[in-house]
Formats: sequence, C-alpha cells, structure tokens
Amino acid sequence: MRQVAGPYDWAALRALIIRFSRKPRHLHPPWLHHCGADHASRLRSSDQYHHGACDMTQTGRCLCGAVTYAFKPPIKWMAHCHCESCRRAVSAGFASYFCVRDGQWRWTGASPKTYESSPGVWRDFCGVCGSQMTYRAERYAGEIHFHAATLDDPTQFTPTVHVYTAEALPWALSDDGLPRK
Ligand SMILES: [Zn+2]
Ligand SMILES: [Zn+2]
Repeated sequence: MRQVAGPYDWAALRALIIRFSRKPRHLHPPWLHHCGADHASRLRSSDQYHHGACDMTQTGRCLCGAVTYAFKPPIKWMAHCHCESCRRAVSAGFASYFCVRDGQWRWTGASPKTYESSPGVWRDFCGVCGSQMTYRAERYAGEIHFHAATLDDPTQFTPTVHVYTAEALPWALSDDGLPRK
C-alpha cells in the first residue's frame, strides 16, 4: 500500500532541538554529497531503498529555485554563527544554520557549486543565482549545515544559540535572550 507522508510534527522537533541544544556543538561539518542512495529527483515512497525518503517533508531552495533540497528530522541543532568567514560568505551580519546528519537529506534539483573557503571547509551555492546553501567541513564529518533562510518556510527556524560571538559585529548581535558562545 502506498504511504503518504503525514503532517510534520513540530512539537516533537522542538523537543529534539531542546535536547540537542543542551550540549551546543560547534558549527561547520563533512561531507557526503548525497545520502548515498540512488534517489530520483522526486520522493517516491514506494521505493524501499529510499530509507525514509517519504518522511522528507521539509524542503528548501535557492533564490532562483534551481537548487533545491529535502530533509527529514531530527535536526541536530539550529544556531546563528557570527564568525567572519560565515559573515563574508553570506555578505550579511551573521549566518543562520540548521544541522542535518548525512542520510537524512538530499539535493532534489540542480547540483550546487562548491567553494572551499578554507582547507577542509566547503560552501555550496547555486551556480545560477549565487545563493549560499550550505556549510560542510572535514571536522564536522557526517553532517551538513543548511542556511536556514533557504528553507521554503524559514519561519519554522527556531535558533537556540549564538556562536562565535567573539567575532560578532556590534550591530548584528541581537539581545534576544539566547545563550552566546
Ligand atoms: Zn539559484
Ligand atoms: Zn561561522
């Protein structure tokens, strides 16, 4: 019988975020371009090897829509990064990320281009419109950090911490009550 992906359980997701946010981890991760399975560009829940692809109910995209992705919970953490490297990569006061483990996400549109911003650190971006999509690094093996603003519904982003605040710009660190690392 064909399964249909159900509505997203945000209450459960928030519980997981709180759980993981108790032990803040540093931003920036490794690599495994796709989750490894031979995915088609569409979610096909009838394919058994799609290891839960039918649960990839969350999606995101670049400005022009060429690069798209899908992922499924749990999200490992959500955070604002104030390091200079991230700031310059996004040309903004800070960068907002959520972390997903490899195997829980995949590209669903055009493949992004990649810029190695420092040895062992890669930033994926749309080759058409230039939108920054991700951060990956050797030292954060097994996970990827998506820019939260690329979510199709960015209002679902619920950050729990500011990191690298020693490098924060005075006009870009809001007094929102979140812990600062
Ligand atoms: Zn684009
Ligand atoms: Zn950063």
